[in-house]
Amino acid sequence: MQACISLGGNMGDVADTFRKTLRQLKNTTGVAHVEASRLYQSVPVGTDAGRPFLNAAATLDTSLTPIELLRLLQQIENSHQRIRETHWGPRTLDLDLILFGDQTVATPELTIPHPHCWYRRFVVDPLAEVAPEARHPEFELSVSQLKDVLYTNDFHIAVRGPDDLLIRLPELNRNFSSEFPGVLLLPFSEANSENSRQIVVSFLAADETPRPFRLRGRVDTAEQFLRDVLSAARGQVTQVANFT
Ligand code: AMP
Repeated sequence: MQACISLGGNMGDVADTFRKTLRQLKNTTGVAHVEASRLYQSVPVGTDAGRPFLNAAATLDTSLTPIELLRLLQQIENSHQRIRETHWGPRTLDLDLILFGDQTVATPELTIPHPHCWYRRFVVDPLAEVAPEARHPEFELSVSQLKDVLYTNDFHIAVRGPDDLLIRLPELNRNFSSEFPGVLLLPFSEANSENSRQIVVSFLAADETPRPFRLRGRVDTAEQFLRDVLSAARGQVTQVANFT
């Protein structure tokens, strides 16, 4: 099975950590054909994330099961003495399992496709380099199509939530307009009362019908949540170097 993984880090010599990670993967029985993207740099999301993040993606063929591969990634993270005190905080190495062939997994320990992969440029950009044709089995889009969505000029986010949030959308649009040009928050017309305390954002191009790209955030932190999503979806990601 072909698996896609993402690599990130912002502490220590990250390029060297990535090189060692690839070597560790290549030396694992049941893992073959490890191919990596170049190195990308992204501005960190969140307030206490520290220095800019470096990111990369890799594909590999494996006879491991998804959970075995996750455990391997966690072992490799631990071997690099990953230091992580806060969510989104600085870390030496973050490895995520993004896609595993066309399989979906939904357990408390593992979700595949990675639920946050599709709206993060720092995941999608490097992945589009090594696996443009890999398909997201839930959205039925290739990685390169996901990337096109993130780079759409008129970028709409359909927001579902309680009325007091929807009433604030014009204000939020004003707040975001200079930071995230081209982005428009719209009420999602198919609001479902069962989920009324959740925000559902759906990324779509101006001329498209909403796709079920769903994310859940808490209403009381809606503005920060949307800001974090938009930073990941619209923030600058630049290719910096080869590292292998
Ligand atoms: P993070 O450090 O933010 O990458 O989150 C790590 C936690 O997410 C671990 O406890 C994993 O069990 C869980 N997890 C769920 N799905 C995935 C995935 N596709 N890739 C990596 N970690 C995952």
